Amino acid sequence: MTIHSLNCFTCNARFPRHWRSGQLCLLVESNDGLVLVDTGLGTRDYIKAPAILHIFKLITIVPLDPEEAAVRQVAKRGFQPEDVRHIVLTHMHFDHAGGLPDFPWAKVHVHRREYEAIKSGKIRHWTDGGYNRHILDHGPDVKLYDATGDKWYDFDAIRLPFEPEMYLLPLFGHTAGHCGVAVKDGARWLLHVADAASFAEDAPDWAVRFVLGPHQPRLRKFNRTHPEVRMTTGHMALEFFPARMVE
Ligand SMILES: [Zn+2]
Repeated sequence: MTIHSLNCFTCNARFPRHWRSGQLCLLVESNDGLVLVDTGLGTRDYIKAPAILHIFKLITIVPLDPEEAAVRQVAKRGFQPEDVRHIVLTHMHFDHAGGLPDFPWAKVHVHRREYEAIKSGKIRHWTDGGYNRHILDHGPDVKLYDATGDKWYDFDAIRLPFEPEMYLLPLFGHTAGHCGVAVKDGARWLLHVADAASFAEDAPDWAVRFVLGPHQPRLRKFNRTHPEVRMTTGHMALEFFPARMVE
């Protein structure tokens, strides 16, 4: 079972300039087809940018290369887009879920709190400005999850219905229903904490807490003490990603 790492949205800070990142989507070969964890931007976003993307363009440098859309990268790896049977969302910000309309046949797995936050249309927290409700216009088949009392290590966890073993880990804060995703990777684990921690080691603690929520100290400590778990964040340094695949 292979886990592919896709950069589905390059986003570089104007300051500091060394914060150059790609939005990490995981493409997991499962027992029930491909499972895509987050989608990045979708092909429509490159044709008509959502309003929030215009704000992003003011504070960051975004190349906006449509070849970064997950649906294009899936094809470049030799799969059919229809092979993506399931999409697991860490949260529903435009840069993590914008590609949903590119996979209208896929079942979408997301925490109930997150789905209700985007559907309500209310801005209850400033980060709710990152939602683009049009990503749901095609009426996807959505499976909602609530707490079950299960644990993954000492984290609250919700088992997802796939092999390899996968869990949603509620890490609320960045958004109302933000979750990490743990995936069994051979003898090890991959813990994708999404936007609950920063890839930038030098990001100030106050800024991380303000934007990403309260979890980073616990996650970093967990990472230091569990070498069998590889931890990734929603936006990784560009160097993390394999060189672009040649068409
Ligand atoms: Zn986000």
